[in-house]
Amino acid sequence: CGVFGVFNHPLAADLTYYGLHALQHRGQESAGIVASDGERFHFHKALGLVTHVFTRDILDRLRGTMAIGHVRYGSAGESGGQNSQPLVFKYRAGDLAVAHNGSLVNAAYERELLHQQGSIFQTATDTEVIAHLLARSAKQHFSEAAPEVLKKIQGSFALLMMTEKQLFVALDRHGLRPLSLGKLGDAIVVASETCALNAVDATYWRDVEPGEWLLIDEDGIQTGRFAEAEKKSLCSFELVYFARADSKIDGKSVLAVRKELGRTLARERAADADMVVAVPESSVPAALGYAEQLGIPYELGLIKNPYVGRTFIEPTQDLRELAVRLKLSAVREVIEGKRIVLVDDSIVRGTTSKRIVGLLREAGAKEVHVRISSPMVKDPCYYGIDMADKEELLANRWAEEEAMGASIGADSLAFLSERGMSDVLNIGLSEGSHHCLACFNGQYPTQLY
Ligand code: 5GP
Ligand code: SF4
Ligand code: MG
Repeated sequence: CGVFGVFNHPLAADLTYYGLHALQHRGQESAGIVASDGERFHFHKALGLVTHVFTRDILDRLRGTMAIGHVRYGSAGESGGQNSQPLVFKYRAGDLAVAHNGSLVNAAYERELLHQQGSIFQTATDTEVIAHLLARSAKQHFSEAAPEVLKKIQGSFALLMMTEKQLFVALDRHGLRPLSLGKLGDAIVVASETCALNAVDATYWRDVEPGEWLLIDEDGIQTGRFAEAEKKSLCSFELVYFARADSKIDGKSVLAVRKELGRTLARERAADADMVVAVPESSVPAALGYAEQLGIPYELGLIKNPYVGRTFIEPTQDLRELAVRLKLSAVREVIEGKRIVLVDDSIVRGTTSKRIVGLLREAGAKEVHVRISSPMVKDPCYYGIDMADKEELLANRWAEEEAMGASIGADSLAFLSERGMSDVLNIGLSEGSHHCLACFNGQYPTQLY
């Protein structure tokens, strides 16, 4: 998912609309904006893309100088309008809106406790647990209750909460998800990624720190910690695949990181081939790095239909396979008779690579060598990236690269080593930081429930 918030700007909802638009790659299932005029909320949310959900008329209704917004990344079984965010609640004497990117590992546990105490839930989201905990807090004021509640929730959360007059921002103690702050004149802007700050012409200020909260209201900005700074464990998959290439995370250019992953992959696992082809869009930087390193031409052998969303969003395997076909086509004039290195950023279920190797063969490729700019995904993610169940992961169906390669129809298949990836991710890393690599190596930074 993606979150975006604005404090103190006359066009808060419009800015949020643009911000969400820039974060659309983080979720296409639903979009929502809640604005506050200081007295009450005005909101709209629905299933679909940002441009479909909002019209000029709707945005005009979302009056106020504060707003938060959310784009939702659907995962199987959880699709449905009632789960769209921001969630809006009656809270004490007023209103509360909550927008969350991430996944709480103890949500089921806390939910059960709340059920036993008589809570009734409206949604299937882990996010609603946060609101219930807030409502039950013994602390009188939101500003005191909110940091308290954060101590009880575990897992990943880049969190925005808003009352009529206050904007609250927090990041989980491991810093699993990215969250950046920006300034636009007298306004404060917060976004999942810096590409959304750029979209509204805000200047990057800083990243929210792991375990940090900020409370922004007319008295200014108050900050505090709900947890001691633990070793930062930013999701490595954000850098590999999820974030937009023009964003900066932890001070590093996502594009530069991806290119370097491609170069390292080329050094580790060179292929003898006539050209490098990327699986657009996310693996273009890695493919460029791979091609540069080996001095092989990079060619546009695959064309993407920009009107098809990310294939993962499709809830069933049949639909996912069809979506890949709609999404990409091979250019025969480029491919025919050639030995191709196909670079992708990741293999999860193997659907994409298998389909694309097939497309390249149909277009007359002589050989197809698949190179992946991250290690094998072997374990599920419990922190909000929909990685599929363990049995569905291609790496768990075939033990060896060779058999796995044959299963997707490739002449050869090779992954970046875990060491190779860590070496790249560690370049220029701020002190005390490292990355979550759990889906690659099974070492989860939090307790799992
Ligand atoms: P697979 O097709 O092997 O299941 O997934 C790998 C492909 O999907 C790669 O092309 C990668 O760029 C993309 N991908 C990897 N992880 C995700 C994800 O969490 N969400 C979406 N939408 N795409 C993903
Ligand atoms: Fe990211 Fe993988 Fe860790 Fe999930 S398990 S947070 S996808 S690195
Ligand atoms: Mg891809």
